[in-house]
Amino acid sequence: MKLVTGDEVVVLQGKDKGKKGNLEKVFPKKNQVLVSGVNIYKKHVKRTGKVPGGITDIIKPLHIAKVALVCPKCNLATKTAVAVLNGKKVRVCKKCKQEI
Ligand SMILES: [Zn+2]
Repeated sequence: MKLVTGDEVVVLQGKDKGKKGNLEKVFPKKNQVLVSGVNIYKKHVKRTGKVPGGITDIIKPLHIAKVALVCPKCNLATKTAVAVLNGKKVRVCKKCKQEI
């Protein structure tokens, strides 16, 4: 899992292909990510007690293989590599070689 919360990603597959968003949550065990504003489904909710019914938007997680990290430096969908900089492990963009 090379993605962390807050990363900007682009969707590669599915109904929101091409859309960009930021990672809201990462589920490493499931290899899934939640991307804000992407993969939104309408859910019909029945009225129960004091909670009013209606239609709410829910965001469904995407499989990690369906998104690609957008490099903040070169603005391209990229993969990351790990490099050691000043004794610390950092993520670098495979395209522009900049630290992400
Ligand atoms: Zn880059």
